[in-house]
Amino acid sequence: MNPPTSLSRRSFGRLAAGVVAATALPWKGLEAGPAGGGGGRPIRLSNNENPFGPAPAALEAIRTAFADAARYPDDPAGELLASIARMHGVPPEQVLLGAGSGEILKWAAVTFTGPGRMLVEAEPTFEALSRHTRLAGGEVTRVPLNPRFEHDLPRMLDAARRADLVYICNPNNPTATITPATSLREFVAAVPAQTRILVDEAYHHYVTSPDYGTLMDLVPRHPNLIVARTFSKIFGMAGLRCGYCVSSQETIRKMAAHQGWDSVSALTVAAARASLGEEGHVAEHRARNLSTRSFVRTEVERLGPAVLPSEANFVMIDMGRDVMPVIAALGDRGIQVGRRFAAMPQHLRVTIGTPEEMKSFVQEFARAVRSDG
Ligand code: PMP
Repeated sequence: MNPPTSLSRRSFGRLAAGVVAATALPWKGLEAGPAGGGGGRPIRLSNNENPFGPAPAALEAIRTAFADAARYPDDPAGELLASIARMHGVPPEQVLLGAGSGEILKWAAVTFTGPGRMLVEAEPTFEALSRHTRLAGGEVTRVPLNPRFEHDLPRMLDAARRADLVYICNPNNPTATITPATSLREFVAAVPAQTRILVDEAYHHYVTSPDYGTLMDLVPRHPNLIVARTFSKIFGMAGLRCGYCVSSQETIRKMAAHQGWDSVSALTVAAARASLGEEGHVAEHRARNLSTRSFVRTEVERLGPAVLPSEANFVMIDMGRDVMPVIAALGDRGIQVGRRFAAMPQHLRVTIGTPEEMKSFVQEFARAVRSDG
């Protein structure tokens, strides 16, 4: 595969710095071969990862932690738990660490659903929780997003009155849209106390909309509320596997009963602790994502398809026709994008990669749109 020329890479660096000229595209007229991620590797825009990886301090912490690789990670994990608890203003007994927030979702499903019990979630949303609920023998009720691609809270509330667990993914995956904080807070207050509510804030740090708000501060008032976060997204640690949730002591105790011994490695714990200490990291990566995401949106919409308003590190593009041919065409050109989502078969989910990667994506997307049209 031919990577883009170094000239076009340098030019695009300026775009990433915010110098997005709406008219003169620096690569216009340059003939590029299939994109690919260099070294024959595909460009991976399929999994909503942060392409820049962990903070330098996190990598350094991993190197230092090699020295304790022979020891079980109880002490460092306890220290991470304490840092997270301090950050959210709760006691450590109200925090549960998992090997990614995926593990937290699994524990929620096995703890609060099962035969004769029901999960309520949006459609479409991140599927892990419903998958584990079904495996546990529970029932799943899906409520389509409303026309603004928000959770349809009035309809979810109706269903929640008969449910054991409600899943709210905010921002939502795969749509990247948010459900406003005001209506979510009213929803949490209205859901019966015996129904658990899991709010998944995996993409929390990318949001800039003033309508959004974390529900972390509601935890002390609602023992049935569980708020999940992850180090996989803005902290760039998807491969290291660390996530957590905050809830009441009773809810955490019940979920922790399903936890394996020491599922988060000492190296991961060290990286997570160091990441929390890197004050500038979140702001820097949010800004990088924002600038590249607006570039992608502008360029895609220039070609015709509309992009849903994104508050995350990925975008959902309305192709107006089945997405499979575009997914296949991009794949042939070395660009992996999100899979087809059954509830939104005409929408293409694309993760925001590096500026260079997104320049290649826009080039190949234009080619795919033209040949598909
Ligand atoms: N929640 C959401 C909304 C996600 O999109 C993902 C993964 N893409 C996860 C949770 C799980 O991520 P992890 O296990 O890496 O924390």
